[in-house]
Amino acid sequence: MKPIYLALALLAGPAFGAGLEIQPVTDGIYALVGPLGQRSPENFGNNSTVGVVVTPKGVVLIDAGASWLGAADIDAMIDTITDQPVKVVINTGGQDHRWFGNGYWQAQGAQIITSADALADQHERFDEQMLRLNMFLHDAAQGTLAVYADTVFDTEYNLTLGGVEMQIIHPGAAHTAGDSFVWLPEAQVVFAGDIVFTERMLGVQPHSIVKDWIASFEAMAAYGPQWVIPGHGHAGPMTLASHDTYDYLVNLRRQIGALIDDGGDIYAIDTIDQSAFDYLQNAEVWKGKNAQQTFEQMEWE
Ligand SMILES: [Zn+2]
Repeated sequence: MKPIYLALALLAGPAFGAGLEIQPVTDGIYALVGPLGQRSPENFGNNSTVGVVVTPKGVVLIDAGASWLGAADIDAMIDTITDQPVKVVINTGGQDHRWFGNGYWQAQGAQIITSADALADQHERFDEQMLRLNMFLHDAAQGTLAVYADTVFDTEYNLTLGGVEMQIIHPGAAHTAGDSFVWLPEAQVVFAGDIVFTERMLGVQPHSIVKDWIASFEAMAAYGPQWVIPGHGHAGPMTLASHDTYDYLVNLRRQIGALIDDGGDIYAIDTIDQSAFDYLQNAEVWKGKNAQQTFEQMEWE
């Protein structure tokens, strides 16, 4: 860590290492699991899970973190795992916590990779995302700038570092327009970004497309991963990812499809049954919004 980052951290107040839990997954592969709730000055906006792949030639970081200080916090966590520097950063999507740390990593000389659709989404939503970050983080947002990937691909990018092969695949839209997953064939591990939420209820937002999200999940699942490292929640088996994300999305479309077929309008949205997913954190916050967004998408199909 360079002195300037330390100075910024001291100014901001919160201590590094407070927000993320290191979950070892398999040989050289880790999930850094953030809290399931909202962005805050204490977590530097890192309310998501990012991935770490340690190779003999450096670290590949899957997702940049949610702010400059959020990235510095991730860097401090990685320092406890390995002496290898971060050489490559992948932005798996256009949401703030996937790319707002880019400035920090670019300053460290890392290569930054994202899909063209994610890049377009990042450009489109930067102002809105930055406004929200400032609202949640106050001083802890300092140093965060719009810094974009230097390596951009359309649907697939193959990366090898230190003998570890990785395929970055953008199957289509999901939680955001440019979501990608990262497949490691040797380890049979997938980093799913915001295509997979576990433990907390996913959010269907105005920029999410539920129908495409289901298809993108299926494209990811077709690889048959042993481990799924989600964009939110702990790493786990495919069954967990399927239940907490895929089954939830399929249920939403099934219930709302039936409601529309019966001539129901958006005012009947509260009658759809999501009770099988009440165990997910933040369910009360998201249930109603998710149903409404999905209804608005489906009524024009
Ligand atoms: Zn997210």
